[in-house]
Amino acid sequence: MEDTMLRERAEVSCLLCGRNLGLLERIDESMRLIEAPETPNAAQLVRRPRVGLACGRCGGRALIGPMERVAAYAA
Ligand SMILES: [Zn+2]
Repeated sequence: MEDTMLRERAEVSCLLCGRNLGLLERIDESMRLIEAPETPNAAQLVRRPRVGLACGRCGGRALIGPMERVAAYAA
């Protein structure tokens, strides 16, 4: 059976401090968040009222980069 799964990823970073907030992954119609590894250059992505997705460190808005296609590989 041919694998036609569409898989895309976008980097999420903080607009203010520039920390890595993880990756947003889309597989077909479902989205999920891949948390950034715990490094000094990373912070947790949090959801804030009225702001939406934000940086857990400084509270700045999360910037979601362009979706990039990830090569599909057979399991
Ligand atoms: Zn920040």
